[in-house]
Amino acid sequence: MATRNEFEDGLKRIEELTTNADQIQEEILSLTFDRIANGEPSNILLAESVLEFFRSSGTSGGQPKLIPVTAETLKLLPISSALLTAVMKKHFGNLDQAVKSLEFQFAKEETETPCGLKARAATTSMYKNNDYRNIISKHHTSPIEAIFCSDTNQSMYCQLLAGLIQPDEVVMVGSQFATALLRAIKFLEGYWKELCSNIRSGQISDWITDSGCKNAASSIMKPNPQLADSIHKICSCESSEGIIKKLWPNAKFIRAITTGVMSQYVETLEFYSGGLPLVSNTYVCSEAFCGINLEPLSGPSYVSYTFLPTTAFFESLPVNNNSLSLSQEVQFNYASQHEPVEKKSNNENIEPIDLVHVKLGQYYELLVTSYAGLYRYKVGDVLKVTGFHNNTPQFQFVGSQNVILSIDTDKTSEADLVNAVREAKTLLDPLGFILTGFTSYADTCSIPGHYVLFWELKAKQGNDSIELDPKIMEECCYRMEEALYYIYRSCRKRNAIAALEIRVVKQGSFDTLMDYYVSRGVSTSQYKTPSCIKSKEAINILESKVIRKFFSPKIPM
Ligand code: AMP
Repeated sequence: MATRNEFEDGLKRIEELTTNADQIQEEILSLTFDRIANGEPSNILLAESVLEFFRSSGTSGGQPKLIPVTAETLKLLPISSALLTAVMKKHFGNLDQAVKSLEFQFAKEETETPCGLKARAATTSMYKNNDYRNIISKHHTSPIEAIFCSDTNQSMYCQLLAGLIQPDEVVMVGSQFATALLRAIKFLEGYWKELCSNIRSGQISDWITDSGCKNAASSIMKPNPQLADSIHKICSCESSEGIIKKLWPNAKFIRAITTGVMSQYVETLEFYSGGLPLVSNTYVCSEAFCGINLEPLSGPSYVSYTFLPTTAFFESLPVNNNSLSLSQEVQFNYASQHEPVEKKSNNENIEPIDLVHVKLGQYYELLVTSYAGLYRYKVGDVLKVTGFHNNTPQFQFVGSQNVILSIDTDKTSEADLVNAVREAKTLLDPLGFILTGFTSYADTCSIPGHYVLFWELKAKQGNDSIELDPKIMEECCYRMEEALYYIYRSCRKRNAIAALEIRVVKQGSFDTLMDYYVSRGVSTSQYKTPSCIKSKEAINILESKVIRKFFSPKIPM
């Protein structure tokens, strides 16, 4: 953990970096390219050897990718993390005394590529780093053995147990993305009786057979009937509302990414959090550690990430409204703020803009030129400039560019879909339901095709099965259609697209979907529920769990 001076240095460093972003970006560029131009050997762009590959999750839309990693990449990660720690310390005080984080983390097995180099999730690579392991052992409740257990359930049991038996030490509860934390809370809802009985007796469950988990859990367990009673009292309430704050009374905040497609989980997390602030503090992808949130206490809809100009050479491609529909707000922004370069209809002809020269209010697609050989690489994310810290732009995460539902001339982006779902789910609130998961696909089996949304719902009170009012569910379908981009609605009017359908699935269906992706190689820590699914197998999983179907009753205005 960093000392006081290191924290202050961290904050000072952020000021320097964000003030000199332009110059730093220039230096990165000249270091990477001028050396080659000046006759250095032929290892074009990539002066260092590739040590391993980061395997991206691919669940936010595209295919999983293998991103080259060099020693330089690995060096940058802890430097960027230290800046993040400095910001957290500024807002939450000393997190490095006798206090701990309950952060659900899951390593994923590495694979070997044909060239003999390892491919692993970026988070797994981080968990293997000795310095990070040191931090985990001192300042996290989760035993490292549990993080490395390949059985998600055993790992979850062990990580939860370790958190539950140290209720007063925990100051932060979280996971990299909101999905893993919610999975842990659901696990708790299913296993709390067993966990209480284990804490009462000091014995761990028989089904914990993984030797690492078993040893780690056994070594920290002692019979504690008083604690078991208190957990029992909290978990046996009819509603799990506020359960995180009740179980960990000294927790100051919840840390998990809740922007972009993760924004669908804000309401569920708020339900469980008991008023703790939700902190979404990094924008990181396998390609680069892009940015940090300098105002961790800003609510999820106001989060902006300030770019770290040292981590890569960043450029931004203005988003063209012919290639991306996004919401009407974007259309409006285009109409009011366009520049000649952005008016070109062909995205190919648009020139990328340097990081520091982006314009306030504009939407951009991120391009990364990395130290590890990526050249103007499209990460696939769309960002909106919301401000500047010194000279460095701050971006709001809008959504993935490549997730698009399309039947006819309509092109619905992830942001459109998230927005439409947000509109529709306001109808569920008065009924006491929470939408705990959604995804979609374009069903073209019948003509015309139509959008299908899978929804998983949960009642705020009790665990009984929920009674759905068909009128309200049909209204939800209609609200979504109304919220979608005007080209979608005009396709509906001329019957080029049939009525939008919501298929309600059984509780736990989205856990099964996650298990499916994890079984295909995705890391639990980096998993993001896909907002749109293309795989037939994944669609079939949800299809087999459908309990009710509802259609939009009329053509949207
Ligand atoms: P991965 O390639 O598996 O590392 O996942 C990286 C992707 O996760 C990014 O390209 C984004 O689409 C998404 N992501 C990362 N950070 C955030 C964030 N703060 N908010 C929303 N989405 C994010």
